[in-house]
Amino acid sequence: MASAPPTTIAGAPPLPVRAPRGATLSCKGWPQEAILRMLHNNLEVGERPEELIVYGGSGRAARSWADFDAIVATLRRLEQDQTLVIQSGRPVAVFTTHARAPRVVMANSNLVPRWATAEHFRQLESAGLMMYGQMTAGSWCYIGTQGIVQGTYETFAAVARRHFKGTLAGRLCLSAGLGGMGGAQPLAITLNGGVALVVEVDPSRIDRRVAAGYCQRRVDDLEQALKLALAAKERKEALSIGLLGNAAEVYPRLLERDLVPDVVTDQTSAHDALRYVPLGLSIPQADALREEDGQDYARRAVASMVAHCGAMVRMHEEGAVVFDYGNNLRGQAQDAGLRDAFSYPGFVVAYLRPMFCEGRGPFRWVCLSGEATDLQRTDELVLELFGDDQTLHRWITLARQHVPIEGLPARVCWLGLGQRARFALALNDLVRRKQLRAPIAITRDHLDTGSVASPNRETEGMRDGSDAVADWPLLNALLNTAAGADSVQIHSGGGVGVGLSVHAGMVVVCDGSSLADDKITAVFATDPGIGVARHADAGYGIALRTAAQAGLDLPYLECTRGAPPGWSGDEDE
Ligand code: NAD
Repeated sequence: MASAPPTTIAGAPPLPVRAPRGATLSCKGWPQEAILRMLHNNLEVGERPEELIVYGGSGRAARSWADFDAIVATLRRLEQDQTLVIQSGRPVAVFTTHARAPRVVMANSNLVPRWATAEHFRQLESAGLMMYGQMTAGSWCYIGTQGIVQGTYETFAAVARRHFKGTLAGRLCLSAGLGGMGGAQPLAITLNGGVALVVEVDPSRIDRRVAAGYCQRRVDDLEQALKLALAAKERKEALSIGLLGNAAEVYPRLLERDLVPDVVTDQTSAHDALRYVPLGLSIPQADALREEDGQDYARRAVASMVAHCGAMVRMHEEGAVVFDYGNNLRGQAQDAGLRDAFSYPGFVVAYLRPMFCEGRGPFRWVCLSGEATDLQRTDELVLELFGDDQTLHRWITLARQHVPIEGLPARVCWLGLGQRARFALALNDLVRRKQLRAPIAITRDHLDTGSVASPNRETEGMRDGSDAVADWPLLNALLNTAAGADSVQIHSGGGVGVGLSVHAGMVVVCDGSSLADDKITAVFATDPGIGVARHADAGYGIALRTAAQAGLDLPYLECTRGAPPGWSGDEDE
């Protein structure tokens, strides 16, 4: 294995980076301005901005600070009919295209399949030829921990419905990792009434989540944490504790004490053996070893993952509800010899797939003004349009009370096919009628209905065995480009690590224009539509019904006489 890329990047601008706010443009149009503000916002709310790291282990916003500066300068001079091309965090070209074309297209972290290994990627990264874009880091669509909080909340709500009569009250939920994404777990669990015990090895990450209101308490001692957690469980009180410790040590220690939590998962950065912290090392020791001897670091990290995953397998055998939370811990442990690592399921196959079949996914919007009042108005719009949808009503009500604003005010709201277009057009109308201080950028996670192929995560256990088929996310990006999205991205490796996933993202800017109406209408047909088509093709009944209700034109159904291969027509979801 090559040594790790440098953790300090020369030429960093004065930190902290802060996204521009207000109604004044520094670019030649709102689409370019929106993309520029989102790039800055990624670093404003990111985990290690000095290293250009946004979240998800080493997910970066740009390849170097020189690239960052060049991107900013190019966005400022970019005309309304030009397209900027980003290759793995570097601005490589500008072409004259047309007004309905994307202003930015990106490809990050993609390798030819046979060469798509972590080792080869690290060599290229060390040589300055590539960067790891994760999902929304390299695509400048990250909105902080709040971006994942509804998905995490819905996952734990599904756990509660499936196993505990609709509530986590009186249940102990064990997890690990309080980073950019994992930091949403304590809040999501307490919003469902449960007790969250989340193990985190880096004290500064716990402090950050406590300060932001995502986690209630930091505790440095296992005995004290258990005392508090078990007392709250007994009283059926919601409580969240960030426990300072290493998951590879704490999980097995709970088993030694015959303590099996009700729910167990994990969101450490296990997808990257150079970011998961090995047993026995403090953060400064881990940072030093990573720089000195990446090979030894990775070897120790993977051995720790085996202990960590092995404890989860045992807890599953002992009756806990256990699920993988999208970080490929199972894959790493299996590759290192833990044969039954996949004995517990991933979160998408266990809880989220029915939503993907309806084209539902993590629709997000960002208030470019920076004003909290704009967010309030858009929250009201959700209730005005979808007030009779109980899930959305409950979510917006909870989010307004409990989810802190990070960076540019933004919201995530899982919307389905049809809902996304309706809401986006209404947002554009608010901008047109000057009911907001500035335009809105709409984006989403790459984890969505039709935009990702990831056999250990989003496409695990597909009904027709098509888990590894990567045509779908590529088609998603092509379609969104044709439909006129303002930014379109194709990435690889997000969530689970290099070579293990292919995924795509997009941004559409609501600047109040009729051109934006046209783009919205097209993009919010294609983007969730291809997801419904993908799941219908795989034989999911919910997707077939959604497609029929939405009038999607799926010609292959004619060749298969109404049902795709493998579909028996049963209620299989
Ligand atoms: P991050 O790098 O911001 O945070 C990871 C955290 O894990 C850090 O705070 C780190 O200190 C901690 N950690 C590392 N090793 C540890 C150990 N042995 N014990 C305890 N804590 C340890 O990453 P993130 O953005 O929070 O993402 C976490 C993982 O979740 C990644 O693998 C990512 O790909 C995956 N992910 C999941 C989803 C989802 O929807 N479930 C979405 C995005 C990412």
